[in-house]
Amino acid sequence: MNTRQLQAIAREHGTPVVVIDHETIRRNFRRFRRALPKVQPYYAVKANPAPEIVETLFRAGASFDVASFPEFLTVYENIRHLPAQERQQFIWDKIVYANPIKPRETLQQLDQYKPLVTYDNLDELKKIQAHAPNAGLVLRLRVPNTGSLVELSSKFGCEPAEALDLILRSFGAGLVVEGISFHVGSQCINDDNYISALNIAAEVMGEAKAHGHEIKIVDIGGGFPAPYHSLVPSFEKLARKLNAEIDRLFPTGVEVLAEPGRFMVASAATLVARIIGRARRDGKTSYYIDDSVYHTFSGMIFDHCAYPIKSFRRGVKQVCSVFGQTCDGLDTISQSEELPPLEIDDLIYAENIGAYSNASATTFNGFPPAKVVHVNR
Ligand SMILES: *Cc1c(COP(=O)(O)O)cnc(C)c1O
Repeated sequence: MNTRQLQAIAREHGTPVVVIDHETIRRNFRRFRRALPKVQPYYAVKANPAPEIVETLFRAGASFDVASFPEFLTVYENIRHLPAQERQQFIWDKIVYANPIKPRETLQQLDQYKPLVTYDNLDELKKIQAHAPNAGLVLRLRVPNTGSLVELSSKFGCEPAEALDLILRSFGAGLVVEGISFHVGSQCINDDNYISALNIAAEVMGEAKAHGHEIKIVDIGGGFPAPYHSLVPSFEKLARKLNAEIDRLFPTGVEVLAEPGRFMVASAATLVARIIGRARRDGKTSYYIDDSVYHTFSGMIFDHCAYPIKSFRRGVKQVCSVFGQTCDGLDTISQSEELPPLEIDDLIYAENIGAYSNASATTFNGFPPAKVVHVNR
């Protein structure tokens, strides 16, 4: 998006406004497919669940990772119109329910769709057996998350040493383990995490095979880094390592899927906000904007992410602070931003704010979330 377009949208729709560029989403999708041609991307809907995004990715040929029943329905909307038989054949190709922990009610709701669901412990297996006996299983493994922006290994994944026992018990319970999955942690900039995880998965699959159970799917999860800044390692380089390791470990072929979230959408959104107040404190100018860490900047809290603030106005930059609109002190966007002198009603913008940002916005302090405008759909 160029700055002229962003300003025009802000004038037309008011601020704060999140502009989502669907051409960027399609470009990110194509980039993923080109670099990892044998891996089917299941877009992790929680990164940004806008139905418009799901539809664009669906049309581009993506599949989806959902982690709640409402997310499941958002995706299912796109396949509802198909004839029943086709829909059923289609469902595993299009949706994986990748939240390893599911309430009983959700399993009951999901069962009629005969979904593919992940699990990582015995209690979950018993719940699935009782409430979603028609589901196919994917066992989530615990793998190293070293150096990832958001770590997930203390919350999910069975120890590799417990995996075989869980697999045998699953088959014993009349269920079928269709796949093995893992997640290396979000915004993973350490390629070794993927390599160790693939090796752990291959080992577990070898053990299962030795017991007569051939597992057909490897789900390599999410974590693919978004290009927030110039230090983020090259995705293509990671992809080359992944392709080589997949070929080496699975020479006879398996179905490989991935669950990229932020990679698809982070770079597709730009927030435009407005300066609503200005004060001088601690020798610096403090700007107050009409968005906050409880709203579009929620990724600062929940995603440990930073979003540099940019100005449309030119001028000599000075160190300043930027605060959100709420009355809370936590609502500090930056204490050391560099911006030219700005006036009340000037617009500012923040790029790469499409993942885990407005998806987790609240209405704290009575302020509604930013308006969302979709362009190039
Ligand atoms: C959140 C999540 C993802 C997406 O992760 P990214 O790091 O955004 O790619 C994928 N799989 C699972 C199971 C998740 O919970």
